[in-house]
Amino acid sequence: MPGNKFLATADVAAWLGELSKTMRVFAPRNEGQAVVYREFDAAKGLELRRKPTESAKHALFPRSEELLSFSYLRPAFGAPEKEGETPSDVSQVQVKMPVEPMPTVVFGMLGCDAGSVTTFDPIYDGSKFKDVYYLKKRQATVFIVRACAEVLSTCFCNWVGGDPANTKNADVLATELSDGWLLQPVTERGEKALTSPLLKDAPAASEGQATAIHDNARKSLGDAPNLEGIDAALFSLFADNDFWQRQSAGCLACGTCTYLCPTCHCFSITDETSARNGVRLRSWDTCMASLYTLEASGHNPRSLKAARLRNRVGHKFAYFLRNNDGQISCCGCGRCIKSCPSSVDIRQIVKDALVQAASIAPPPPPQPVAPAAASPKPAAPVKGKGRTKEKANG
Ligand code: SF4
Ligand code: SF4
Repeated sequence: MPGNKFLATADVAAWLGELSKTMRVFAPRNEGQAVVYREFDAAKGLELRRKPTESAKHALFPRSEELLSFSYLRPAFGAPEKEGETPSDVSQVQVKMPVEPMPTVVFGMLGCDAGSVTTFDPIYDGSKFKDVYYLKKRQATVFIVRACAEVLSTCFCNWVGGDPANTKNADVLATELSDGWLLQPVTERGEKALTSPLLKDAPAASEGQATAIHDNARKSLGDAPNLEGIDAALFSLFADNDFWQRQSAGCLACGTCTYLCPTCHCFSITDETSARNGVRLRSWDTCMASLYTLEASGHNPRSLKAARLRNRVGHKFAYFLRNNDGQISCCGCGRCIKSCPSSVDIRQIVKDALVQAASIAPPPPPQPVAPAAASPKPAAPVKGKGRTKEKANG
């Protein structure tokens, strides 16, 4: 196809180095035993074979992000006030917004992770609310998605509408061939990113080679189960405590699953201050932590990990789906399965939920109502009984 480019393996680092001169470039590299997305540094290398341990969501939604900085104009506590200062002077606060985000490229993002952006958009770019911090980064970021040649036993993108060569939200699809990369632009923005002299026009046969790699990866994923009705199944099990106790028995409430999940998007906001200055930060939060839902009253509606796991699975496969035109908010990346210290497997929970919900006997059909007999005279209230019953129910 015209526009397809070829990048020799030996030129990948040089090309990323070239892009880094004008843009922020995130690419995967090894750090300890993990594969993480960091700003490209030729000295630290690249890892384009192993599946990244984390997703690249922090390019759009940083772990901890400055929303604004502020300074109180009043003197620090205990310091003498300036002569002639009025009460309105001392209550003033100067607010500074952060600098505009730099143009960014994420190289080697996986197809499942690109798919996860579909979960972020309705939240941060919804019809009611627009999050300018997210939107500016989204507009400034080019996604070069790497097609998976191999899949892991924990991958299940095909269960949730994904694909190893997913192009949804991608600007360029990159497929590794035997001696280099086929770069296929998907959007105009992607096309504009492929202008370096290091990139040659792709040979005619390369597209067929890439398709064979994509097909092979699709085949390795196996068949996907039918998840139709998963939302109704999870709703019907909402009050089935035994089911959720069983599913969460091994969970350690460590939060790894949520921090590694490309679709998890919860945050908390804190002000970090020092003397008269401060910054307002938005930081990732995890619904698997026991304090996540602790209310100011002291009540915690999800103090049990069974309730928290129910919420995590329910949010991804039922609540989000009902609110967003059937969109499941799990992209099937499998990270929560691979990195869970306790082997909690969201695929198994979903399958068990479908089986368990199907086994619940439907309620008997309503019976015709018999004609009402004359109502007996209500018994005279017994002193103190109503109070006792109320207490027993409370
Ligand atoms: S990673 Fe596993 S053990 Fe940790 S909170 Fe998630 S389900 Fe529980
Ligand atoms: S729930 Fe698990 S499999 Fe689904 S997107 Fe999150 S980490 Fe990936």
